[in-house]
Amino acid sequence: MQKVGIVGGGQLGRMLIQAGIDLDLHIRVLDSAPDSPCAGIAHEFVLGSVREAETIERFAEGLDLVTIELEAISVEGLQRAQSKGVTVYPDPQITHILQDKGRQRLWYAAQGFPSPKFQLWTPGEPIQLEFPLIQKSFQGGYDGKGVQVAHNPTDLWPISSLLEEKVSIQKEVSIIVARSRQGEIRSFPPVESVFHPTAHVVEYLKIPAELPPSAIKEAQEIAENMAESLRVVGLLAVELFYTTSGTWLINEAAARPHNTGHVTIKSCWTSQFEQHWRAILGLPLGEPRLHTYGGLVNILGPAGLHGMPSYPGLSAIMRIPGVSVHLYGKKRSSPFRKLGHIIVLADSAEELSNKIRHIQSVFRVEVRAV
Ligand code: ADP
Repeated sequence: MQKVGIVGGGQLGRMLIQAGIDLDLHIRVLDSAPDSPCAGIAHEFVLGSVREAETIERFAEGLDLVTIELEAISVEGLQRAQSKGVTVYPDPQITHILQDKGRQRLWYAAQGFPSPKFQLWTPGEPIQLEFPLIQKSFQGGYDGKGVQVAHNPTDLWPISSLLEEKVSIQKEVSIIVARSRQGEIRSFPPVESVFHPTAHVVEYLKIPAELPPSAIKEAQEIAENMAESLRVVGLLAVELFYTTSGTWLINEAAARPHNTGHVTIKSCWTSQFEQHWRAILGLPLGEPRLHTYGGLVNILGPAGLHGMPSYPGLSAIMRIPGVSVHLYGKKRSSPFRKLGHIIVLADSAEELSNKIRHIQSVFRVEVRAV
């Protein structure tokens, strides 16, 4: 039995554990929250900060392989583990590039990958882009936190940050690609994400994205070339903008399972989580082909409320054929926090859209202040 470690104990780690059980892996997880989604289900749960080099170094002792489920971690800790002979995938150097939005943009520009016009800005410096523009903090942002539209200079947060042209987006699409230890590469079909209009968090998504076949091919080529250039081992999830003029720009990428890939569990021959294990364990990659239309509706904490969530409408939506529910075990709801998701399968794109609309209209999260 191989002993593997996951740095980070959130819902992505939880789904990695589910897939890892099938491969008879012994899984140790590191997270600083005692009630994190992996606590209680990992074979070993280590309480500690994923941002501390020493903690990661100690966590990795005795493991055959370490992987990650988030980028906001100590790269130095992973490098120390590597220098002691523990295999780490993705390579910490890749995490170093991808954990900082500024470094990502510089890497895309240097490698010739298409991405929005940008500027690494320090307050006081002249602004080279036109307003409205997008301002992003370099690190620590997720689900739209740390991203804003600035309409004029006074809107800007006074922090060193990334400024980007505001792209005219037709669709937001992600391509998850796997690259194995042997260099084998396979892409999942494209996923189309629809965002909440103000909170920037994904409300629902669909696989496959509705796009011309030539556009799908182009996006997959970009993602596969990126995986090859980085020489990543494991998954690389590439978020792209399909612009109103029909071109592709890379928004950002993550070398780990991605929240737009949960739908692959039910709608593809191989899930992203199984594929990640296959890639990093040196096994042949699985077939990522679709066998049914799939959708995902995020269960989000309601705006303005904090407290214990409950899901009174669950049994009503579980009557719909092809619906299954995944709750992340989070004990506290906060506005737009991802608490779980609903997967829905369908025989056609139209049926899928109808089912997604229906779920959105009937399902509610209730929150009790504690
Ligand atoms: P996060 O890391 O929190 O997911 P992103 O950088 O992906 O943040 O940005 C969140 C959302 O903001 C994107 O999904 C997109 O809807 C919007 N956005 C980001 N960058 C741009 C841009 N350059 N032009 C237009 N919209 C953008």
